[in-house]
Amino acid sequence: MSKAAPTIVWLRQDLRLQDHAALAAAVDRGEAVVPVYILDDAAEGAWAMGGASRWWLHHSLTALAAAIQERSGRLIVRQGNSAEVLGQLIKELGAGALYWTRRYEPAIIERDKHIKEALTRDGLEVRSFNGALLHEPHTVQNKQGKPFQVFTPYWRHCLDMDQPKVGPGAPKEWPRPGQWPDSLEVADLKLLPKLDWADGFGDRWTPGEAGAQAALREFMGDAVDDYDGQRDFPGVHGTSRLSPHLHFGEISPAQIWAAAEEKGRSRGVFPTSKGARVFLSEVGWREFAYHLIYHFPHTPTQPLREEFADFPWADDPGGHKLKAWQRGQTGYPIVDAGMRELWATGWMHNRVRMVVASFLVKHLRRPWQKGAEWFWDTLVDADLAANTLGWQWTSGCGADAAPYFRIFAPVLQGNKFDGDGDYVRRWVPELAKLPDKYLQAPWEAPAEVLEYAGVDLGGNYPEPVVDHKQARDAALAAYQELKKN
Ligand code: FAD
Repeated sequence: MSKAAPTIVWLRQDLRLQDHAALAAAVDRGEAVVPVYILDDAAEGAWAMGGASRWWLHHSLTALAAAIQERSGRLIVRQGNSAEVLGQLIKELGAGALYWTRRYEPAIIERDKHIKEALTRDGLEVRSFNGALLHEPHTVQNKQGKPFQVFTPYWRHCLDMDQPKVGPGAPKEWPRPGQWPDSLEVADLKLLPKLDWADGFGDRWTPGEAGAQAALREFMGDAVDDYDGQRDFPGVHGTSRLSPHLHFGEISPAQIWAAAEEKGRSRGVFPTSKGARVFLSEVGWREFAYHLIYHFPHTPTQPLREEFADFPWADDPGGHKLKAWQRGQTGYPIVDAGMRELWATGWMHNRVRMVVASFLVKHLRRPWQKGAEWFWDTLVDADLAANTLGWQWTSGCGADAAPYFRIFAPVLQGNKFDGDGDYVRRWVPELAKLPDKYLQAPWEAPAEVLEYAGVDLGGNYPEPVVDHKQARDAALAAYQELKKN
């Protein structure tokens, strides 16, 4: 037990004990260590955590609190303005130091800067650490000293940099303060949705560090080596599903990197197999997303390519088209399957994220920000950097984006990536009995086939909300109009 000026470790999106530079430094400092989580919605600006993320956070904090307790520590949970809560805690504890892992969202950078300046002025030792990225945005720049805006040269540059080493394992225990400060229970944060919407999430996910490590182990078993061939097929469990764990910092990208290299070494394919290389380059897209949001902080709401700010979006009186999309009732099976997977599990396969995003922005011509907001509320991995990149990429208005005129054709995408229909049959069961030939385009099926399969278009499954060809032509015309201005 230590009574000297304790170290507060302010936990945010770093809900783990292993490879945690801030925690390790706090233990090294030798005084009592007090880990704190503060729920501070106001600080996130327009991006306070959505419903699915809150579900995850509840379970992740519960797991973390238990892991800390096993080490005779305690997780202090509070709610409110971070600066005020920290100020209060520092006073209560007589704390001498405050450590945290850096975040990169624009509003959070500002907030953290103020806190650091004010507390340092007051004589506290304030230190922040990297724990969320392989390469922090301020360390990567092109030959002109500017931020990269194209992924391939960005990633090539990163691959030439020193890869970060994994830090120490979880501390076995750490000195405790003479008296623990008051704490809320995790349940007091009321993070779980009032509706039973998220009840099924627990079948798919195990939030927390142990769940993250288990998901990594499972993926590194065999799937990683087939990743390059399997990653685009939503009916197959061919990707790691590490995204929510990474977002909440239950695992670090450095740990993932090391695991991939270790796997390669054990197989004699050093540094990694092709599948692992492709996988790590996807982790690289996450890095690139943080690079972009850091250097272009306006992009969560504004297009990076300014000319797109005047895009002629279509009207949607009563919001019917948006609602059809949100509810998985567009009449395009691959789109509906994706939106229903999202609602049921809090996650959607990347290929399908691109298809549904393209559908909203190009077929329905609704602003990408509307889609980003829906994803924000419903994804367990909702991440301001990755979500912004994903939406702007699909909409053609971001860095290294798909050109606007490349419009995903949902039927072709369905046939190509869900040819055996496993994915659509799982999430759109009312179409399950349709033969593969018509599964992705039920409106093309003859009446007797529909009847045999029990499909009533406009009854138990909707007619297409828009005609693909007409929607495509209208989107291209809108793009021409934008180019004229
Ligand atoms: P894997 O394929 O196993 O990839 C490993 C890790 O790399 C992921 O966990 C993720 O952290 C990262 N990654 C993979 N692809 C991307 C990508 N395209 N961009 C950035 N990082 C990537 N990802 C989020 O984490 N949060 C979001 O809010 C988010 N919103 C998206 C919105 C749209 C419109 C699109 C097209 C993509 C979005 N993505 C988002 C990226 C991607 O779809 C998910 O990261 C991926 O599907 C997560 O599944 P996984 O963990 O199995 O990925």
